[in-house]
Amino acid sequence: MTQQKTNPYLESMEIPPGYLNIMGYVDESEVNGPGCRAVVWVQGCLRECPGCFNVESWSFESNQLISVDSLAKKILSNPRNQGVTFSGGEPFWQASALASVAQQVKAAGLNVMSFTGFTLEQLQSQYAPTGAQNLLEQLDILIDGPYIQSLAINSPNSPVSSSNQKIHVFNPALQDQITWASDQIEIHIFKDGSRLITGYRGGLELED
Ligand code: SF4
Repeated sequence: MTQQKTNPYLESMEIPPGYLNIMGYVDESEVNGPGCRAVVWVQGCLRECPGCFNVESWSFESNQLISVDSLAKKILSNPRNQGVTFSGGEPFWQASALASVAQQVKAAGLNVMSFTGFTLEQLQSQYAPTGAQNLLEQLDILIDGPYIQSLAINSPNSPVSSSNQKIHVFNPALQDQITWASDQIEIHIFKDGSRLITGYRGGLELED
């Protein structure tokens, strides 16, 4: 019998079936995983890590609701995206919906990576969030473990933010593509003039 971990905040959220609650989205990022890729920042995290670079992602209140199908289409609509990275917030609190997105984009030949504050062992245990196994089965790369400020690595050559975090490459074809650095930044300027700054320790900053 499994005793999957429940999240009281998530249970009180009104996310319609087949939808995700996200904090942000960007195409063509080169600092959040191998190659050029879309990044989805999900909304909601319970950890409250000191030094967290995305404090706005902690709340489980409804932010941007998007259907699984719309999100998959959005990722696939940009031919420069070679993959997608799920960041947060905590992606595994919305694991089932993200697994469905991953399934659709993988069928089109893209690769899928996720960050998580859980360890891989926790995600494989009976206490993992609902749907964790489904999402793990879709992933090419997992970066696990919470951000620990006292173990921070501010190096232009490190793909992780703190030394406790581990890179699990499930797809051997990507083994030699762990080349991005978490300490680089990228500025995306959109047609409406708004800006998104990402990449510094995997973070996200939105400006009008
Ligand atoms: S797990 Fe990530 S998003 Fe959550 S509090 Fe820690 S650093 Fe922030």
